[in-house]
Amino acid sequence: MDIQVEPIETKSSVVRCDGGGGPLGHPAIYLNLGKEGKIVCPYCSKCYVKLHGHSTTGKKTKGLRRAS
Ligand SMILES: [Zn+2]
Repeated sequence: MDIQVEPIETKSSVVRCDGGGGPLGHPAIYLNLGKEGKIVCPYCSKCYVKLHGHSTTGKKTKGLRRAS
C-alpha cells in the first residue's frame, strides 16, 4: 500500500517541523529548502515545497511592516 505524502507548501526557505504531534511527532527541527525549494523531513518524511513567485505578485501589501 502506498502512502501518498501531500507536500506542504511554504513561502519561506526555512521550515520548522516537529511532525505535527501524534505517532509522527519528533523534536522540532529546522529544514532549509535550499536551491531546490524542496525538502523531505528525515524524521517524519513530510515533504515541504517552496511556493514560487515574487512577493510583489498578487496581493499587494500596503506599506512595509517589519516585525522585529
Ligand atoms: Zn518532520
